[in-house]
Amino acid sequence: MEQSEAVDAIIIGAGAAGLAAASELRANGRTVVVIEARSRVGGRILTYRDPDVAVPIELGAEFLHGTTPDTDTIIQRAGLTAIDVVGDSWQAREGHFRKTGFWKKVNRVLRKLDEHRVPDRSLGDYLAEHASRKRKSKHARARALALEFVQGFHAADAALVSERWLARVANTSAGNPGDLRSGRLLEGYDRVTAWLARDVFDAVELNTVVTNVDWERGRATVICRDADGFLRTFEGSTLIVTVPVGVLKAAVGERGAIEFRPEVPGMVEGMDGLEMGSALRTVFAFTERIWEHGLPRAPRKRGGLTQLSFLHSPGANFPVWWTQFPVRTPVLVGWVGGPRAAQMSTQPDTEIERLALNDLASHLGTTYECLAGLVRGSWMHNWDSDPFSRGAYSYPAVGGSGSARKLSRPVDQTIFFAGEATDTEGRSGTVEGALASGSRAARGVLLALGVASLPNQ
Ligand SMILES: Cc1cc2nc3c(=O)[nH]c(=O)nc-3n(C[C@H](O)[C@H](O)[C@H](O)COP(=O)(O)OP(=O)(O)OC[C@H]3O[C@@H](n4cnc5c(N)ncnc54)[C@H](O)[C@@H]3O)c2cc1C
Repeated sequence: MEQSEAVDAIIIGAGAAGLAAASELRANGRTVVVIEARSRVGGRILTYRDPDVAVPIELGAEFLHGTTPDTDTIIQRAGLTAIDVVGDSWQAREGHFRKTGFWKKVNRVLRKLDEHRVPDRSLGDYLAEHASRKRKSKHARARALALEFVQGFHAADAALVSERWLARVANTSAGNPGDLRSGRLLEGYDRVTAWLARDVFDAVELNTVVTNVDWERGRATVICRDADGFLRTFEGSTLIVTVPVGVLKAAVGERGAIEFRPEVPGMVEGMDGLEMGSALRTVFAFTERIWEHGLPRAPRKRGGLTQLSFLHSPGANFPVWWTQFPVRTPVLVGWVGGPRAAQMSTQPDTEIERLALNDLASHLGTTYECLAGLVRGSWMHNWDSDPFSRGAYSYPAVGGSGSARKLSRPVDQTIFFAGEATDTEGRSGTVEGALASGSRAARGVLLALGVASLPNQ
């Protein structure tokens, strides 16, 4: 078994949170090692580039949601280009299009959720109660759209997700995309993690899967298996754990699962209140911008679909599609989140893409065969079946609106949990939340190691 020299902090995971923590600790003169199971950094940021496609193809995170100070700092320092998402939202069904008013209706429902409700309940229970009180079809439509939004945006199961948490995030910077700025990175999201990795690349151990953590106050021993099957151990005074909640919850012995000896106080309690949501995104590059040309029933007035940004078709397998507008390029992304995504993710990628294209053809009022003939390439990544993510991103279940706070508390000045799921400011499930959580954990480590001065930013 190979044993490395002891470091100030061992970090498990080279996603946004792990890299942010590593880079901040390094900047403050601390020694780190970052252990990463995959053969790349970035985690749930996964950007693919195809020489025939003008834009980067995002298979994980794509949007900057709301206010993103930590990401903005990197964008600025790395010289990246953020562009605002603008354009029109349309609802489409079998080739008939109408403007949606999607956010107005969704917000009408979300704003009534109660942040302080005792006892907490699920969105599903909330909607069921209101369905019996407000039967008019306009209310039913707003409820259906709110359900679609929560499943899609938060990747959540309405039967599980906490009303208290939804109410809280609806009022925060990342929670309500209808009201807030959203943006994209022209060069690709992976430039954010690549920029962070630049400072710490020599400390990152790729293809190294953590299986066990033995710890006591002031010491952590991390046992891993490398790509050749050899055991490796790392010693540190502190440990930052950034693996997704799905991995934290995996049973010992499953791929990616980590056994902590002794159990970490508060960890089970914290993660029990959190669920890993499912989402599927399929990316299609076409030979032309099909929505602008030749659709039989496309709207013609005021520019028609030339500024199409989002296309909604509630109830479909893939109920949301988007273009890259204002960048005019023949790429469409299909999205589904929540239980429908979880169900579909058990199927092979080719079948998922077939279902997606079939839906798109139906929304646009054309045929599968016609669209398939115009596809230049298609891409997806199944995050549910990926052992190192085990889902897309987290959300609090009923009674779990305080779970992230529990999980984010330092344990014995030795173990620090970070990662999107531990964000307590309503930014869980986002890159910004992950970056901020990494910085928070790094500051905790600096305090634990007895650094009296303020950290170097
Ligand atoms: C399809 C999809 C779309 C998304 N869209 C957006 C979006 O538009 N905007 C947005 O802000 N966010 C979005 N997100 C969420 C965002 O990607 C995540 O919140 C963020 O990237 C999480 O970063 P992290 O560091 O917390 O976790 P991760 O990026 O998951 O990093 C954890 C790392 O730990 C590693 N790991 C796991 N197990 C082990 C082990 N046993 N040993 C060693 N290493 C291990 C993993 O390989 C991974 O690299 C999306 C996510 C998905 C999946």
